[in-house]
Amino acid sequence: MKKLLAFLLGLAVAFYLISFLFTGPVSAAKDEVKLRVFVHYPNPHGKPVADPCTATTNDQVQDFGLAGWQMPDVGVTYKINYRTKPKNLSNSQVNNAISSSFATWHSADSKQIFNDGGPTSVKAAKYDGINAILFKGASSSAIAITYVWYYVSSGQLAEVDTVFNKIYKWSYTAYNGTNDCGGVANTFDIQNIGTHEFGHWVGLDDLYSSVDKDLTMYGYGDTSELKKDSLGAGDILGVNTITP
Ligand SMILES: [Zn+2]
Repeated sequence: MKKLLAFLLGLAVAFYLISFLFTGPVSAAKDEVKLRVFVHYPNPHGKPVADPCTATTNDQVQDFGLAGWQMPDVGVTYKINYRTKPKNLSNSQVNNAISSSFATWHSADSKQIFNDGGPTSVKAAKYDGINAILFKGASSSAIAITYVWYYVSSGQLAEVDTVFNKIYKWSYTAYNGTNDCGGVANTFDIQNIGTHEFGHWVGLDDLYSSVDKDLTMYGYGDTSELKKDSLGAGDILGVNTITP
């Protein structure tokens, strides 16, 4: 009888401990934060001047990809590190380019809210509570890199940083709706590349099929390119599919 009691007690303790094993990881996973990194190259991989920008022929393709997260309904506050900006551009040019990129997504879907949180001194992409936008030399031939941290269970964006590769020259030219390749030669346009990067902030994925080459979420970019400033049919459909 004593042996049976000891056995039952042992069994109870074992179940108790096993229940910890299961509830522990499960409850931790509730708040688990994952990182996804988007690296973007000139089209095709290699020197950007080797394959120049091409004008839009069809941006009515209804393609989009969902990355798996959405922004908080209160929106996202971003901060720009102006000290890292290219010397040929003023702070207000950088701010205009970036705020225009955000405004493009907000215009397509007013539920996507972006707030300018002013300057930051953050010099690298890291999980630090600041949604930073900065310029930094990257060793690869990447044009720009966006880092997204998101909660796995809720699918909510936790933090996001975008880094423009300082190895390349950057410029800012307003898009008039037809000058698809009217940016400064041999430079990447901040608004053009920024609009693509911020598509990842709202939860859209890259597209790499050649039929999608005139959409903003097409994963390659070119020098002098401006056409990503305006969203294509798939980009608009995609952002409206995601509810913050
Ligand atoms: Zn991308």
